[in-house]
Amino acid sequence: MRMYEKGLLIVLSGPSGVGKGTVRKEIFSHENANLHYSISITTRKPREGEIDGVDYFFKTNEEFEKMIENNELLEYAQYVGNYYGTPISYVRKCLDEGKDILLEIEVQGAMKVKNAFPEGLFIFLAPPSLGELKNRIINRGTESDELIANRMNVAKEELEMMELYDYVVENDKVEYACERIKSIITAEHLKKDRVKHRYKKLIEGDK
Ligand code: 5GP
Repeated sequence: MRMYEKGLLIVLSGPSGVGKGTVRKEIFSHENANLHYSISITTRKPREGEIDGVDYFFKTNEEFEKMIENNELLEYAQYVGNYYGTPISYVRKCLDEGKDILLEIEVQGAMKVKNAFPEGLFIFLAPPSLGELKNRIINRGTESDELIANRMNVAKEELEMMELYDYVVENDKVEYACERIKSIITAEHLKKDRVKHRYKKLIEGDK
């Protein structure tokens, strides 16, 4: 039965500092055989504790630009001076095998995915407030004042993009946000157009 059903392409996006990474890590800290994470490629330097091939694939500008040229990316964006992008091959593989794949990306990239894949599931992670968002960016502690101001400006513009998403999940508490996201995924799997083929024979009167 599964063979008729492609996996879901799930895009988790939202403003800088809203906690996308934390929520995503929490989702993947629990066993879920059918949900896969798309590891992004970036040209930014690894932060302390980040591992190449786990958190990101860390590449040089030249390597990244080569991947753009070769059409190896589903989407990419420049964000605060660095490239970030989604390798297309793993996404295709998962979907074809009927596995769900989750992308955790910023909003410009999410919109590019929406153009290429309108049937995807687009989830916007929203902050409880702008003040809260600023605290989170500051508390990350890895950014200069200029970078913080830059990220806040980007975040305000990004909030307006909520309009283009299917669902909005407030990140008031990481566990609550994860529960909401899992419920959305469960419901999406039960959409009539995805499951009706299972009942086709029954409806047509076959034994
Ligand atoms: P950070 O440098 O904090 O890890 O990530 C900065 C931003 O880039 C975050 O909003 C993160 O979601 C986003 N990002 C990570 N990977 C990708 C990607 O492959 N494509 C796009 N467009 N954004 C990404």
